[in-house]
Amino acid sequence: MEPVPEPDAGRPDPPPSDPPPSDPPPSDPPRAPAVRGVPWLVLAGGILLSVLAWDRSARSLHEQAQHRFSIRVEELHSQLGDRLRVYEQVARSAASVVTAFPQLRRAEWNRFVEALRIPERYPGILAVAYARAVGAGRAGDLAAAMRADDAPGFRVWPEHGGAERAINIFSAPANETSARALGFDLMSEGIRRDAIERARDSGQPTATRAITLKVDEAGGVQPAFILFQATYRDDPPPPTPEARRASFTGVVLTPVRVMPLIDGLFGGGRHDVLVEVFDTPAGEADFPLYRNGGPTTAAPSLLPFSLLPPSLLPAAPAPISVVRELPLGGRIWTVRYESRPAGGIGVEEWGPPAVLAGGLTLSAALFLLLRTMTATRARALVLAERMTASLRRREAERTQLFTQAPLGIAVIGGDGLVVECNPAFARAAGRGRDAVVGVDLRLRAGDPAVVFALDAALQGESGKLETDQPLLTGGRRSHFSLHFQPVTADGELMFVLAFAEDIGEKRRAEQHIQYLAHFDALTGLPNRVLLFDRIAQALHEARRDGGKVGVLFIDLDRFKVINDSLGHSFGDEVLRSVARRLQAGLRDTDTVGRLGGDEFLIVVRQVADPADAAAVAETVVAQLASPFQVGGQSFVVTPSVGISLYPDDADDVEGLIRCADIAMYNAKETGRNAYRFVTREMGAKSRERMDLEASLRRAIRDGELFLVYQPQVATADGRIVGLEALVRWRHPQDGLVMPGRFLPVAEETGLVIAMGDWVLAEACAQIRRWRDRFGLSVPVAVNLSGAQFRDGLLPVKVAQALDANGLAGPELEIEVTESTLIEDIDTAAATLAGLKERGVLIALDDFGTGYSSLSYLHRLPIDKVKIDRSFIQDLSSGASDASVPRAIVGLGRSLGLSVIAEGVENEAQLQLLRDLACESYQGYLFSRPLPPDQMEALLAGLAARDATPAG
Ligand code: C2E
Ligand code: CA
Ligand code: CA
Repeated sequence: MEPVPEPDAGRPDPPPSDPPPSDPPPSDPPRAPAVRGVPWLVLAGGILLSVLAWDRSARSLHEQAQHRFSIRVEELHSQLGDRLRVYEQVARSAASVVTAFPQLRRAEWNRFVEALRIPERYPGILAVAYARAVGAGRAGDLAAAMRADDAPGFRVWPEHGGAERAINIFSAPANETSARALGFDLMSEGIRRDAIERARDSGQPTATRAITLKVDEAGGVQPAFILFQATYRDDPPPPTPEARRASFTGVVLTPVRVMPLIDGLFGGGRHDVLVEVFDTPAGEADFPLYRNGGPTTAAPSLLPFSLLPPSLLPAAPAPISVVRELPLGGRIWTVRYESRPAGGIGVEEWGPPAVLAGGLTLSAALFLLLRTMTATRARALVLAERMTASLRRREAERTQLFTQAPLGIAVIGGDGLVVECNPAFARAAGRGRDAVVGVDLRLRAGDPAVVFALDAALQGESGKLETDQPLLTGGRRSHFSLHFQPVTADGELMFVLAFAEDIGEKRRAEQHIQYLAHFDALTGLPNRVLLFDRIAQALHEARRDGGKVGVLFIDLDRFKVINDSLGHSFGDEVLRSVARRLQAGLRDTDTVGRLGGDEFLIVVRQVADPADAAAVAETVVAQLASPFQVGGQSFVVTPSVGISLYPDDADDVEGLIRCADIAMYNAKETGRNAYRFVTREMGAKSRERMDLEASLRRAIRDGELFLVYQPQVATADGRIVGLEALVRWRHPQDGLVMPGRFLPVAEETGLVIAMGDWVLAEACAQIRRWRDRFGLSVPVAVNLSGAQFRDGLLPVKVAQALDANGLAGPELEIEVTESTLIEDIDTAAATLAGLKERGVLIALDDFGTGYSSLSYLHRLPIDKVKIDRSFIQDLSSGASDASVPRAIVGLGRSLGLSVIAEGVENEAQLQLLRDLACESYQGYLFSRPLPPDQMEALLAGLAARDATPAG
């Protein structure tokens, strides 16, 4: 939760009345991405730079070291080379002495060598000696001569030698070692002989390979070599090896210990360079003649950096190794120089790590600094942004709340003047905002009660009230709920909030609901609920006062037809007119209400005699007798009225209504436009109806139904042109029951569907049989009830019945009445089209009795019209002229329909039909409906007659 300052609670800060600026919703707080990245960039750059600097400084340091080292190696190597040259020179000068003084004596040699001051000046040289070359046979002479020359113990060893011998005759400085070497035949030993021969042949100083001197053999390995320099009789020595061999007189030998020789140069404290000397070419030797100091020491650990990866540690500079060659006495020595830290790491070695460490430290410090700075800044920015957004949002919310609240809100100052009001308040007052603000409500309120309430609020007392006066005089009128709420700070009144709600609409809605609950919306008459209530009230009264109550059940005759054919709004208008007339004819004590549809109910109170109720019924019939004028049309609506009486027929509300209903049905059955009192017999009849339903159900199931067939014949020659199937019921107890008795029940209960299915199947099966047996070629008509027609499955069922019997379609005719079609003309047209598609013929039954105009006829796929029986009956009785049958015949002709007359009972009627050129008829005159066996006899006769040749 970000801290948001509390809004100033002291004073009201009226929001602007104009709609709040539509702020875009506060977006997410900024992330300050640019600023936030900087420290990281700095850190990365710092590290990179530090590493680069470290690498550069390390590299240059290494280069410097290499340079320094190569200079040092150069110096050392030339020193070493110089020394060896000097040592060679020692051998040479000794050889020149021998050459110059062929008769040199031992003492003279000793003096010469001593003058060289070998121990001080030529470290490593053990002695400078001379071996005289003698033939094999001359060794004895030499020994003798030597013994003579102040060397009494001189003897040649080994005693026996080769053809050429080189016998050590002088060796100085004179000491025990030198003395022991005297007399030794150097040629007796391979390495020495080899070197001597090379020295003899080359005339140059020649060195042996590394050996251990005889004197050292007892005292462990001491690498050494012997340097030889040949002497010749001729001076200068002869130029060719052969001549030199011939001139060869002896050889100066200088044994040298390697260690002291080189130590003098590299030894002592000078361990900055590791020197290894091999007396073989580089790479061949595995053990050096010489090596100064021990092995290379590991660099000491550098504590400050021990946590860094080793690659970043400032290691001692990597050792630099240089290999040089050194010629010595005809051999090539190899010298390997290796740099070596002189102990610890020098200032310069600390340089690169210091650079690295410094760089890294600096980078880290910079990074931390920047990061702290940027993070703080970014956080501050985000917080500020959030705070602003939150404040703005709150402000917008408050403004919106105020301006958009459906509740009227006004702020009234301590002086009673309106400081501010919201649009809802202005609307409630019926004035603009400017006409409300600044007004003293106490002077302008429409209701004094409001003034009292506001006065109380200004005294600090909240109050609620409702008023149906305008909030401001001359303003809008409605029903308002008002609430005054004083707002105080530290016990002192700051202002008063006035909340105003227009509850007029709510009030009206409540009243309307109340009304709807008890009154019929269409006619405004009491509805079923209120009627029940009124009857109950009347019954209560009658019980108390001992009177009677009459209930009249009124149903309009054929109202359904009006509604269906002329439209519902027309029907509604008729119902309203009927309601007005019913009401007009009533006493104040009586109540008329509508139960629904075209059913009305009248409650008659204080009935002393049934005649009082009858009088009311008569008034009803009379009231409706005069024609209605609706939508420019004039027509008559007749009622059927049933009457029940308390306490005669029933003693409760439901019972009374049920009885009146039964009586009404009775009135309808017996001719309409009449009233009937309910009778015991009627009650019995209604019970009988229920029995009938149960037994009809059983009849369908148990096959108690059967069909009879009535022929249709041509008026001209009496030829059979069709048959009509009519249903009958063979009741197990009651015997034959006619459709007029059970069809209404079948229709009311829906049983007519199952019955109709059976009729269809049975008729089709019969057609099949008669076609096969008698060559029946005329269609058989089947009657359909409205319920079957509305079923939706009719075309399917018809097709199934046809298919089941292998019939094409035109063998079957369907009879429907006008009223069935007119109920829903569009669906009817579709159903008929479906039947027509299957080839079935369609006949319009009871034609002429309906209300509809003939206009729909051409819209329907009708093949035949049947003039209703009533018109034919009228024909013979002379009650009316033949205008209706004539019109129907003419219509049929013009539309290409065949016309048939029903109920023709006598010749006169037939003659009239012939005169009208009505093509066919049906009636008792020709034949009553016949059961199948009798019908078969007729068909058999016809078939036989057809078979008989005419004439
Ligand atoms: P409807 O379709 O008008 O049938 C003709 C009625 O007139 C039949 O009465 C028939 O017996 C009677 N009738 C025939 N010729 C004469 C005559 O010369 N004079 C007189 N006075 N009457 C004659 P029914 O069989 O009692 O049928 C009455 C009504 O029952 C029929 O009137 C028809 O609407 C209905 N109905 C009969 N069978 C069926 C059926 O299978 N299904 C359906 N839905 N209704 C049927
Ligand atoms: Ca019929
Ligand atoms: Ca008929």
